[in-house]
Amino acid sequence: MIFPFFSHRWKRVAAVAAAAVVALNGLSVWSQRPQTAPEKAPDGQHRIAGAIHIHSRFSDGGGTIEEIVAAARQANLQYVILTDHNDALPFALAKQYEGYRDGVLVIVGEEVNTSAGHLLVLNMDRPVEQQGANGLPALLDTIAVSGGLSFIAHPDGRRPWTAWSVGPLHGIEVFNADTEWRNDGPLELLNALFWLSWMPQAAMNTLIDRPDSVMARWCALLKDGPVTGIGSVDAHARIPLFGDWAISFPSYAQMFGLIGTRIVLDGPLTGDADADRARLMEALHAGRCYIAVESFERADRFRFEWVCEEDTAGMGAQIVWKTGGRIETTVVSSSPTRLRLFRDGEPVKEIDGATLTFPISLPGLYHAEVYQLRRVFPFVNPTPKLWIVSNPIFIQTTPLQNRGD
Ligand SMILES: [Zn+2]
Ligand SMILES: [Zn+2]
Repeated sequence: MIFPFFSHRWKRVAAVAAAAVVALNGLSVWSQRPQTAPEKAPDGQHRIAGAIHIHSRFSDGGGTIEEIVAAARQANLQYVILTDHNDALPFALAKQYEGYRDGVLVIVGEEVNTSAGHLLVLNMDRPVEQQGANGLPALLDTIAVSGGLSFIAHPDGRRPWTAWSVGPLHGIEVFNADTEWRNDGPLELLNALFWLSWMPQAAMNTLIDRPDSVMARWCALLKDGPVTGIGSVDAHARIPLFGDWAISFPSYAQMFGLIGTRIVLDGPLTGDADADRARLMEALHAGRCYIAVESFERADRFRFEWVCEEDTAGMGAQIVWKTGGRIETTVVSSSPTRLRLFRDGEPVKEIDGATLTFPISLPGLYHAEVYQLRRVFPFVNPTPKLWIVSNPIFIQTTPLQNRGD
């Protein structure tokens, strides 16, 4: 036979092989499904779950504030930070909704177009563009002087950030869920799209990777002073098609379940909206928070601390170095985990397990990353999937300057 591939036998073999590849691939996607966290004992810390960077109908989002709050409840979030695109009207409209709504704390900021890219501006009473600042340095100064916080939005996204040496800045989106799928190849996107209707969250998880270039940028910024790393959803729940037509995909609830910023507080939220908002903003400013890919598993129990004799300090702490002391990282997970500790952006220790202890012999900026070990295609070795990124603890020979001041 000259063309054996066209025989019935070969067609059958090809069909079976294709089915096997699809099945194995489905199994691989399924293995990245959300897990349920094991029972946890209280440890005094409150890790407040929430979503940052949300667009509503007041700018180019697809939903009302009520729909956003309903999605936040569905995703078990305690706070949402709305950041509609800047002009005075969306800010004023959204601001009326600030406060507790159905048990979710709604906080209103804005996303500002600057000459260097997009900026999230939080903790301001009125839109920054109404305050007469001319040029990026003046804008950042105005925000800092008014007690506001400025975070670089999607530094690597469609509109990348370009002014890396201009400040003062308070933070950066280390993770932006809307950028995550854009940096994947066409095969990965097609695969995720194929499985989306059967296993939506697992299919979306296949697109999440460690944002290496942004992590490197963040570490470079940290050399000049503290800058808080956050994980943002950049949720629109709207893909424009033509004219006024659009589809509401991915939904707010899907995005809210994907990537979050856990803000660590000493006590629970009190229900007093102004006081709770101030506590959350202060913790974000101070770097007392961590980024979590909640769609793998709710990141309810992560602890990253400096410990020295009777003293302890958590993320964002600035410690003047003396001999002794150690860094402790612990996590509770239903999957096996790999913990990685970094000093000044370079890995210094890695273990497979749930606790990592590292005696400090050198000052530096320490941060931790937690990976879930999942068996994905081709199932030979467990594949580390990034789950949690801490903010750093600063162990320095001299005290640092204040954040963004
Ligand atoms: Zn943007
Ligand atoms: Zn945005």
